[in-house]
Amino acid sequence: SRFDTYFLMNTEDVKEYVKEKLDIFDAHAELEAKEIGDGNLNYVYKVWEEATGKSVIVKQAGPEARISSDIKVSTDRARIEAEVLMKEGELAPGFVPKVYKYDSVMSCCSMEDLSDHVIMRTALINHRKFPLFADHISTFMVNTLLLTSDVCMEHKEKKLEVKKYINPELCEITEDLVYTEPYNDIAKRNNVFPPIKDFVQKELYEDKKLHLEVAKCKFEFMNNAQALIHGDLHTGSIFITEESTKVIDPEFAFYGPMGYDIGNVVANLLFAWHNANATIENEEEKASYLKWLEDTVVDTIDLFIEKYNKLYDEKVSDYMAKTEGFKEWYLDTILRDTAAVAGLETIRRTVGLANVKDITSIKDEAKRARAEKVCILTGKDFIINRDRFKTGKDFIDALKKAL
Ligand code: ADP
Ligand code: MG
Ligand code: MG
Ligand code: MG
Repeated sequence: SRFDTYFLMNTEDVKEYVKEKLDIFDAHAELEAKEIGDGNLNYVYKVWEEATGKSVIVKQAGPEARISSDIKVSTDRARIEAEVLMKEGELAPGFVPKVYKYDSVMSCCSMEDLSDHVIMRTALINHRKFPLFADHISTFMVNTLLLTSDVCMEHKEKKLEVKKYINPELCEITEDLVYTEPYNDIAKRNNVFPPIKDFVQKELYEDKKLHLEVAKCKFEFMNNAQALIHGDLHTGSIFITEESTKVIDPEFAFYGPMGYDIGNVVANLLFAWHNANATIENEEEKASYLKWLEDTVVDTIDLFIEKYNKLYDEKVSDYMAKTEGFKEWYLDTILRDTAAVAGLETIRRTVGLANVKDITSIKDEAKRARAEKVCILTGKDFIINRDRFKTGKDFIDALKKAL
């Protein structure tokens, strides 16, 4: 077969590929294919048959990042992505696409087509509300995180899992883009909005006290093999409808701190908040939308805490983890990491290599500059005072304080 050695597929190749490798279409099917990817690292194709309405998504890992050819990334991330999607599907049923096939030769994953959902970042920029999101994402996170940790897992088995998801190159991207470059621009890759250049110089590049706290967080990220984290849980990795939430794109997954995922969700809801605050003209509509986003942050954290406490009591298996007070102490460390990462993400998406459309699409320059400064100040507060974040409301209070 042509698919016995790796090559980058085009739309014609992908049509042939799905006929040969998957049971979805028959040999005579008339197929259409389109590249639908928008990401930095991969090629995503939708293949469908007009006559039957059947469709499939094929995601192939390329050998280098599309955003910058000096980022080389192992195609092993396609294995990690496919295996993690399958594992998450077991731990949190209904919250990820079904995986039909992982192909280690072609480094590609064939999965359920979620075209009836929309990417959450786009929907939030269009100021749409999703009443079930906080409930869904808190269930997804508590199940995928707590159940893969040493609290619940047999410790030898957990160590083998740590090994299975070693992901050095993708972790390096995070270590550089999230935990290093926003604080010094040593790689000269930051994208700083010109009107806030001096502000960034003073508040980020010259703040030595902040650098020390970021350094501590960086080593926490690299050394705390706590749970199987998604590793890239922003609103561009979430497909959504009013009834359904599906998490995609776990190629950055590895055993890391739980707070990395939770903090990413919080930060990306805050970007949507800034977008709405800067762009909705009708005051009533704006107030209602901001309130929904604030409630969603609060509920995401508070429901996580509630579900954590319940699942912990049901599933804790380690003898010492049953010691009175440990569950609460452990939760405190998760919330501390959540706050820190929420701050690291708000800062890096504001000044780093990869920005977010929620902020860059704010056309009024003064409003955008103000939103970016607030992101940076809130981010610093989250990082420096990370020990003080204990409930959902603490996150919103920090935002309000920085306004
Ligand atoms: P990357 O790793 O390159 O960011 P993603 O997995 O995020 O790739 O996918 C890129 C885009 O492809 C998504 O934003 C979405 O529009 C589309 N896509 C990915 N997976 C699916 C899917 N299962 N169903 C429908 N569209 C998808
Ligand atoms: Mg993506
Ligand atoms: Mg993408
Ligand atoms: Mg990705």
